Amino acid sequence: MERYRIRPGREVDLRTFDPNDTGAFDGDKDDGKDALKALNERLEDLQERLWAEQKHRLLVVLQAMDAGGKDGTIRHVFEGVNPQGVRVANFKVPTRKELAHDYLWRVHREVPGDGEIVIFNRSHYEDVLVVRVDRLVPPEVWGRRYRHINDFERMLADEGTTLLKFYLHIDREEQKERFQDRLDEKPWKFSMGDLGKREQWPQYMEAYEDVLRETSTGWAPWYVVPANRKWYRNLVVGTVLVETLEALDMRYPAPADDLDGVVIP
Ligand code: AMP
Ligand code: MG
Repeated sequence: MERYRIRPGREVDLRTFDPNDTGAFDGDKDDGKDALKALNERLEDLQERLWAEQKHRLLVVLQAMDAGGKDGTIRHVFEGVNPQGVRVANFKVPTRKELAHDYLWRVHREVPGDGEIVIFNRSHYEDVLVVRVDRLVPPEVWGRRYRHINDFERMLADEGTTLLKFYLHIDREEQKERFQDRLDEKPWKFSMGDLGKREQWPQYMEAYEDVLRETSTGWAPWYVVPANRKWYRNLVVGTVLVETLEALDMRYPAPADDLDGVVIP
């Protein structure tokens, strides 16, 4: 999975990342789905340990263009985990109250506590993406936010949070097909505003490239996930999660009492 991780400070050209990539699976969807099933089981076990141990915190950031597959990733990768201890935080257009505060205010209150996994469905990165592309604030305001974000994430990491950030990379052609499916099958998920953002595709790619270069750090790395093939996207995200959690070497806590020779009456 290393090849999808962005090294700190690396110049990123998204045109060099193939959204159709299926890695070692070489397009074999059936094998990919079997592999995901195995990952789901490992994740289930790891999450149980995380929750039992109450020591580590995991924050997963998901970003993508519209129809990039954030919802589907959450549904498929976390299939089978115990909802106790796993939570999704959605970041929509800020409310009036949220706008009356700094942009990290609404974000900080959603971060995971001990034993918890929190998935950010969109995140503080919207504040250097849509906010930049739609010119909601001037360049000098969003321009200094990379520094805030790196510092904020570093603080979370120092205090015991493991951070993983995924950009689900689809191309414009794939978005078109998914939008059409939405129109036909899930019209409630379709908004006219999505078409406006589709028009701004090049500006978004530029904004994403800057985000990836400026904010992929040792303590909070970004992964560019090939996401045209949903099954491979799920596999990449699932693998990174499982490998990261395994490296935490979590143990079930010792029982509070001495249970030697206990007989249940
Ligand atoms: P969805 O995820 O499809 O429900 O849409 C949520 C919308 O909220 C997207 O269009 C985001 O770009 C938008 N959004 C999220 N955060 C912000 C923000 N900080 N400022 C402006 N728009 C935002
Ligand atoms: Mg949407």
